[in-house]
Amino acid sequence: METKYIFVTGGVVSSLGKGIISSSLACLLKARGYRVTIQKFDPYINIDPGTLNPYEHGECYVTVDGHEADLDLGHYERFTNVPTTRANNVTTGRIYQSVIDKERRGDYLGKTVQIVPHITDEIKRNVKYLGNTGNFDFIITEIGGTVGDIESLPFLESVRQLRWELGQNSLCIHLTYVPYIAAAKELKTKPTQHSVKSLQEVGIQPDILVLRTEKDIPAEMRRKIALFCNVAPDSVIQSIDVNSIYKVPLTMHGQHLDEIVLRKTGVTPEGEPDLGRWLEFIEKMDSATETVNIGLVGKYVELQDAYKSISESLFHAATNARRKLNLVYIHSEKLTDANVAEKLAGMDGIIIAPGFGQRGIEGKFVALKWCRENDVPTFGICLGMQCMVIEFARNVLGLEDANSTEMNPKTTQNVIDLMEEQKSISNLGGTMRLGAYECELRPGSKAAEAYGATTISERHRHRFEFNNDFRSRFEEAGMACVGENPATKLVEVVEIPGKRWFIGTQYHPEYSSTVLSPNPIFASFIKAAIAYGEEKAGK
Ligand code: GLN
Repeated sequence: METKYIFVTGGVVSSLGKGIISSSLACLLKARGYRVTIQKFDPYINIDPGTLNPYEHGECYVTVDGHEADLDLGHYERFTNVPTTRANNVTTGRIYQSVIDKERRGDYLGKTVQIVPHITDEIKRNVKYLGNTGNFDFIITEIGGTVGDIESLPFLESVRQLRWELGQNSLCIHLTYVPYIAAAKELKTKPTQHSVKSLQEVGIQPDILVLRTEKDIPAEMRRKIALFCNVAPDSVIQSIDVNSIYKVPLTMHGQHLDEIVLRKTGVTPEGEPDLGRWLEFIEKMDSATETVNIGLVGKYVELQDAYKSISESLFHAATNARRKLNLVYIHSEKLTDANVAEKLAGMDGIIIAPGFGQRGIEGKFVALKWCRENDVPTFGICLGMQCMVIEFARNVLGLEDANSTEMNPKTTQNVIDLMEEQKSISNLGGTMRLGAYECELRPGSKAAEAYGATTISERHRHRFEFNNDFRSRFEEAGMACVGENPATKLVEVVEIPGKRWFIGTQYHPEYSSTVLSPNPIFASFIKAAIAYGEEKAGK
């Protein structure tokens, strides 16, 4: 079968969930046996989101091949169970960089380099890159931003050209919003009509409309939208708010989105998608009555997208353990020795979040000391693991000045230090230790037990590491370095074996948890938290 290209654009407002609609469609096509990948084109100038503050753009996701990517790639992986790579996320910055490099090499043979055709050709080349590998039947391309933005114009122009070139092997899904005006008790279709008009103005006729809405849109109203927008009535689909993003594939399938996409791209739909394991997950989620309470100690509490992959991984683990996840975000800047017991006592397990810089770090030490002394299941991720090491050094080894050189470059007790290969690096973009690396786990450790294996591979994003000069002192005092990189001896996992569950990982296991293959270390942590919760309740 020829590769089919599905474009997903958005209108009216941002944050409508293009990523979830793209992921849900991919999930359904995958469940029908097709080979699918999703890619995101972001209209901003940054080369990648690696240098963006989480306040700007939420979590920075990391692919196996070490690309710092938009958080939507996390959804793509969680819904499809297919790893993404650097090719799945392209920004305006990358497009321009590549065109300018070609210009400097002289590739354009004296021509004036312009947005059309040079930038658009470069965008088109990137859109088709994964399709040309022959590895996929469907390439879903999400165009970031909203129709009408100045910066997304070259992307839309490229989509227009590709629709023309690819004919039936492509289609466009446009996602819009149908607001409910409470005072008038009415749903309003005008913003959708305007948004489709804007898309038509740049030469794109959407084939399918997906309408985000809080209330059921009556069939009559959907027919009206179809009429105004030149879209077939059965191709106007509503995406009504549901209590979990993982139900969106089901609501989309309920309105035949997958079949419509197949028919419109010239493929005859056969049978039904095999959603067995997906439905099993939904059943566990819906039937869970008891709760597991997890506290996440971090500095971005008002911005939950900053910890998206962690919260989703915890959700996968809790659901599989047939529990509802009650995830409480605890502001690390506000934690003190005086209030820590009150803030953490209700929790069955604590996560110490990843991060950068000094802000909020002392609160993480306060939380860790309390968790360690009270033997609460505790999971430190990346900076969280480094904080575990520092807290242990200060309060158990008596190294009062212990710190990471990230926070105090002058500390004499640099238990966390800059990695050797980082010392000569000055650029910030894309220069951390990124992507998947192997880790050997000590047989018999809780970490090895969690994975059921002693060789694992997980993704990374850091510049600092455990300082091996201190290793024997930690081991003697009871904090074991149970995971290390076989090539460099970099410490990947620490744990206190005597505790219920006290593990820190230098890597980010949250990047590799999907609905169909949840990450084992989160499963193990949640299991320990449930057991602790039951013990506290005297069960
Ligand atoms: N700031 C720490 C480092 O660079 C931890 C990074 C993180 O938590 N992702 O090593």
